[in-house]
Amino acid sequence: MDLILVRYGEIALKGANRRKFEKNLEENLRAYLKKEGISFGGVASKRSRIFIYSPSRLPDLSRVLGVVSYSPAWEFPTLEEVKDFLAQQEALFSGASSFRITASRADKNYPLTSPEIERELGAVVHEKFSVPVNLKQPQINVGVEYIDEFFYVYFEKMPGWGGLPVGVSGKLVVLLSGGIDSPVAAFLMMKRGAELVLLHFRKNPIDDRIGEIHRALSAYAVGREPELVVMDLGKVKKFYDLARRRDETHRYMCVLCKHMMLRTAEKLAFKKGALGIVTGDSLAQVASQTLENLAAQRYGLKLPVYSPLIGLDKTEIVNIAKKIGTYEPSIHHKEKPCPLHPHPVTRARMDKFFQAWDEVTEKLGYLPWEKFFQRK
Ligand code: ATP
Ligand code: MG
Repeated sequence: MDLILVRYGEIALKGANRRKFEKNLEENLRAYLKKEGISFGGVASKRSRIFIYSPSRLPDLSRVLGVVSYSPAWEFPTLEEVKDFLAQQEALFSGASSFRITASRADKNYPLTSPEIERELGAVVHEKFSVPVNLKQPQINVGVEYIDEFFYVYFEKMPGWGGLPVGVSGKLVVLLSGGIDSPVAAFLMMKRGAELVLLHFRKNPIDDRIGEIHRALSAYAVGREPELVVMDLGKVKKFYDLARRRDETHRYMCVLCKHMMLRTAEKLAFKKGALGIVTGDSLAQVASQTLENLAAQRYGLKLPVYSPLIGLDKTEIVNIAKKIGTYEPSIHHKEKPCPLHPHPVTRARMDKFFQAWDEVTEKLGYLPWEKFFQRK
């Protein structure tokens, strides 16, 4: 192979945005190759493709978000040289059941059209190896792209995740539990180009797999790895003790706790220059994730909260978790359970939420909710 041909999507990319996207993806590719210990001649963009020249081996580029697909490829200055090259592919074509050539031209100035290129090259393979052409379901599909006066030939197209390169969209703070959902939410936001700060509240370090989840996510953001911030839920423990004094307040404990987490995440976001918060909430997945509870939890925040799993089913989420490698550490992550009320509130009422808030926070030296929200 002379080079790797990298394809990216997002057809709507235009002007300055496009260059920013390409530069970002080039940087992420360079960082990834370096980390994998792969030497290469250079990385450059040309006409909606990124070229990685002379790589020492073929890397797994599905780890670099923004890559739609990639192919090990060979470069030739003339069609005659492509013909010679194909005529030498004995090992590939002999005994093959069928093939086709798929040509495209980024540069329409070339005298032959794409179908003409396909016919000329197809004739060479057919004559030399007596393999029949099958346009619909070929065993071997030979790709040929004419870009800026060179032909690029490839035999394989490996899929990537697509999306946008990490770093191109700005920063977000993710509320990362050790569960299955929030690591998937984090991944999906990275796939839309977000750079992440992960905020984890540790209840009790019995079996801390959060480091493994962090590593699994970092593998998709080489060069722009998410920062992991771990905080103790110490303050919240005090808050539990207070909440348990009255039954109705105890029922609101989870909603209050999530609210505290979101508020802390918001503070961290302002500090880190992040523009929003991400959670792994999925509508009505568990009794606590109702619209009422979500509305109470998120009351009064200044930054938007993004929950990319909100409309997904658990099986869809599990499938992604398995693919990206966060499932295993997530199911083995163990935390000390919270002293839950046997009937936690499933449809929070705002007035009761505020009442519970006041009861608990007053004793911790916080402002009552009305003043708290006015002050902000
Ligand atoms: P997950 O699978 O992500 O744990 P879940 O289905 O268990 O989600 P909840 O426990 O209600 O649902 O949590 C909802 C969201 O709140 C999580 O997806 C995560 O974003 C946030 N969260 C929960 N616990 C923590 C924690 N200990 N630290 C940081 N964020 C948390
Ligand atoms: Mg959970």
